[in-house]
Amino acid sequence: MPIDPQEFADLPAVDVHCHPFLNRGALDAETFTNVASFGGGSQAYMEQGGVAFTDDIRHELQGLKRDTLYFRRMVRDLAAYFGVAPTLDAVLEARNAAVAEGYSDYVRDLYADANLTTLVMDFGYPVPNLDVAQVSAELPVEVVPVYRIEPLIVELLRADIGWDEFERRYIDTLADALASGAFRGLKTVIAYRTGLDISPLSRTRDQGYQALDAIRRGLGGGSMKKLRDHLVCRALELSMEYDRPMQIHTGMGDFEVNLPLCRPSFLMDLLRFPTFRACRVILVHTGYPYHGEAAYMANVLPRVYCDISEGTPFAGHAARRIISEVLEMAPPSKVLYGSDGFGVPEINYTSAKLGREALAGALDDIVAAGMLDRADVRAIAGGILGANARRIYRLD
Ligand SMILES: [Zn+2]
Repeated sequence: MPIDPQEFADLPAVDVHCHPFLNRGALDAETFTNVASFGGGSQAYMEQGGVAFTDDIRHELQGLKRDTLYFRRMVRDLAAYFGVAPTLDAVLEARNAAVAEGYSDYVRDLYADANLTTLVMDFGYPVPNLDVAQVSAELPVEVVPVYRIEPLIVELLRADIGWDEFERRYIDTLADALASGAFRGLKTVIAYRTGLDISPLSRTRDQGYQALDAIRRGLGGGSMKKLRDHLVCRALELSMEYDRPMQIHTGMGDFEVNLPLCRPSFLMDLLRFPTFRACRVILVHTGYPYHGEAAYMANVLPRVYCDISEGTPFAGHAARRIISEVLEMAPPSKVLYGSDGFGVPEINYTSAKLGREALAGALDDIVAAGMLDRADVRAIAGGILGANARRIYRLD
């Protein structure tokens, strides 16, 4: 008998990677489309390319965003939830009415429908960063904040300080964030900057000194990469010291990602280096479309984990295949559900619906292939949906 996603309906979902958002009130179709779509193709993007933002261009961009299978699926999920016709206008009318009646109540009911109980949020995006207390107060679910190192690096580069002061403020800020319990993990998006080919030898303090000195003197010569690589190593050391996970963005992202240097395999030298073996590292987006590499690393590196966010929901029907392919090599206890939602609560919702369905489908295929006992499926699903994240983040 095939596995019905309803079998997993009572298993709570932890969204292990997403971004904070506040109540935006009523949204028109254009704004909703812009904030709920995967990154890229904005007015600013076209204007920076010398393309005047005419009505025709606006139409073109809106059409493309609404054309994605992800977006179509979200509209259908929300239409089913509200009991309205599967059109964007009908969905938004119902959505805006619900928000007007009470935003937190709306989100509570929406997330209850997907049994989504916890959001692990990277507060480094959006910029300027949102306030943790304000976001947590509005959201009727458990919010687990994660601290992103890059905004701090930008702030310290802007300050007129030398290496000793830079290093002290960097380490103190991260240590405070973790020691106080205000943040439950660290995050780096170096894959959007200088890429993931980080030498483990970058950890030497001298490299930090040399790189910042070169930057201050305008020498270039790869000094920014040396500095960023060093600071990632120091963050890994802190995450070990405080026994909190470190999220590393791998794989696709918005259009600014350093696509050739975002493959998880670039991290192999760093993560297998003895100094960093104790660190719990979550390969965000499981490196999609290079998820096979991430799954392999989760197999051979005891403290490396795969988070299936972004592929779910933005790669649409790939969610089932991604989960299935990640489970080829990654132990199920190291696979984590996530969405990479941002901007509005509806992304996390549709992702949780799709993720549960894709997980049921993938596990069904695996049982049919004779690789798994039917009796073990529920425990594995519960782990991937939430229990694995609760264990790794020490949430209980
Ligand atoms: Zn993200």
